[in-house]
Amino acid sequence: MGAIKCIGILTSGGDAPGMNAAIRAVTRTAIFNGWRVKGIMRGYKGLITGEIADFTSSSVSNIIQKGGTILKTARCPEFKSEEGRQAAYENMRKEGIDALVVIGGDGTITGARCFADEFDVPIVALPGTIDNDLSGTDSTIGFDTALNTIMDAVDKLRDTATSHERLFFVEVMGNTAGYLALNGALASGAEAAIIPEMETETDQLKNLIDNGFRKSKNSAIVLVAENPATGGAMGLAERVKREFPQYDARVTILGHLQRGGSPTAQDRILASRLGAAAITALKEGQRNVMVGISNLETVYVPFTKALGRTKRVRSENVELVKILSI
Ligand code: ADP
Repeated sequence: MGAIKCIGILTSGGDAPGMNAAIRAVTRTAIFNGWRVKGIMRGYKGLITGEIADFTSSSVSNIIQKGGTILKTARCPEFKSEEGRQAAYENMRKEGIDALVVIGGDGTITGARCFADEFDVPIVALPGTIDNDLSGTDSTIGFDTALNTIMDAVDKLRDTATSHERLFFVEVMGNTAGYLALNGALASGAEAAIIPEMETETDQLKNLIDNGFRKSKNSAIVLVAENPATGGAMGLAERVKREFPQYDARVTILGHLQRGGSPTAQDRILASRLGAAAITALKEGQRNVMVGISNLETVYVPFTKALGRTKRVRSENVELVKILSI
């Protein structure tokens, strides 16, 4: 692979607020460095079908404030096959794309790793997911916006929970990681967070009930991370009905509204920094790394480490939620 003159950029998997800010930063930093940019539509699907457009600086005008992704996103099962990836590589060559910047979550980075194993293509990934479940970066693009959405929703639910003196289970996303639930609980003053990371250690629901939810009040809001193993908020509410019928439990599933909305300042700044850093990484000859920010510094995280699920929720935050809900 010779010197890079043209990069392709795509967003893939679940969308996240701030992806547009990242597309803008990657595009403009690349152009600033004299490179050409091609926008690949619908994630890996566009690479396979050749849905690829020349990008200029104005292609990314007026998007920093917008949620979603102007490049669209899609799940692309074809990319999981060798034939699919071969077709993607041939289209890259045809379009004169020398390197790729991919923005997405763990599935997207897994795909990038497979592609890079088979073909001589420098790839840099940006962590774009509300779930914050990638290791090596303190935060992923979209996490902060989703947290703010959860906080607003819980603030509203609090009014009805207090008035009716009810127990609310509020299910949030997380892809079986507890960051949104735990940080959402801290930000909204919820009584508890039930997260997959603690599931193996303890029966979190039973502990909550045994401790009397919130001693000083008759209502409680519990944030629950989606988790097929426990059935999420629905599963917990059914258990309450069966095992603790003295409680009047209600369920709210926040669902896809967590993915939408204008990105927060923090997500726009993170996306802008990471987008620019992706181009710096390629200029420095980095490949097959995710760019992240750890302790305020830009870091290059090998794909295997980013996917390694070594990032742990902070156990002191689990304790803090308990202390602050007495
Ligand atoms: P996210 O990036 O948000 O985790 P997905 O898990 O849906 O989203 O992954 C996005 C896309 O990445 C998939 O549709 C597929 O094209 C690609 N991908 C995921 N896993 C693999 C894999 N094991 N091999 C090749 N491509 C993959």
